[in-house]
Amino acid sequence: MAADRHDGIRAELARARAGDKVHGAYLFEGPPGVGKRETALWFARLLLCKGAPPEAREPCGRCHDCRLLAAREVGPDARPTHPDLHWVDPDGAWIKIEAIRELRSALGLVANEGGRRVALIPEADRLRAESANALLKTLEEPPPNTVLILVSTSPELLPRTLRSRALRVRFPPWSERAIAAALEADGMSADDAALAAQLGGASPSAARAWADESLEFARELRALLDESGALPVTRVLDFAEDFRRAGEEGRGRARAFIELQSAFAREKAAAAAKSGDPRALERWLRAFESASKARVELARHNTNPQLVVESLLLELAGPGTG
Ligand SMILES: [Zn+2]
Repeated sequence: MAADRHDGIRAELARARAGDKVHGAYLFEGPPGVGKRETALWFARLLLCKGAPPEAREPCGRCHDCRLLAAREVGPDARPTHPDLHWVDPDGAWIKIEAIRELRSALGLVANEGGRRVALIPEADRLRAESANALLKTLEEPPPNTVLILVSTSPELLPRTLRSRALRVRFPPWSERAIAAALEADGMSADDAALAAQLGGASPSAARAWADESLEFARELRALLDESGALPVTRVLDFAEDFRRAGEEGRGRARAFIELQSAFAREKAAAAAKSGDPRALERWLRAFESASKARVELARHNTNPQLVVESLLLELAGPGTG
């Protein structure tokens, strides 16, 4: 899938460089897989490039810095190295305070290549409180010519003080239709592309991951939802039983079920609105709401996936529905 280039955001960042108005810290935020990291790395390249004139919209690609920064690997996980580009990564589950201390001492020195320094934190959501506070000190007394770029899918998890010190750049989610079109352009059938896009929510990378796995399971779920109004309760309980599997697998399957149920309810609600059926509309909006709640339950409270799926399906399978 072609990565979304976010031309508008890039133009804005290039203008800041041209006008010598580059901020000390940026917070790139948005759903997973929309191209935040790629854009952050692109901006780091533009900031470190010494061959491009100030008004340039792109790094020159030819200077010493650009050559150093040319990624050997491609993709969102590419990690090009440059003496003035500092990556701050988690060690295990969290970004440890040692990593922030190292960064602070590295930024205390003059730039190796005599220009700007850039610090990139591609998984800023994994800053724990003490690391975030240590980083905050850097933001409060920014070393000269230094730019910090934090990338986050859940900025609300970061301390407010940290957020308020950074210039927030919001990356919009993709529409389901755009994701499906991109998957279709890659040769997937229209039905499968629509299914993968529904499963991926607003994230092209999540949709791609679904598309790369077998969609067989998703097709089964979708078929079940289509007949859910006529399902006997025993069949629902049998089906939900299947989600009792231990650990991540059961949760992953339940997450997929929730995304499909949510998309299904949304379709039905749209159809009910179109045909002017207020009772059906209300019912499907409620089902949609239940899916949203179930998503939070599963993520936050470690709820048993079997129970989550069971209650969603029983709601749909209730008498007099369809
Ligand atoms: Zn260059």
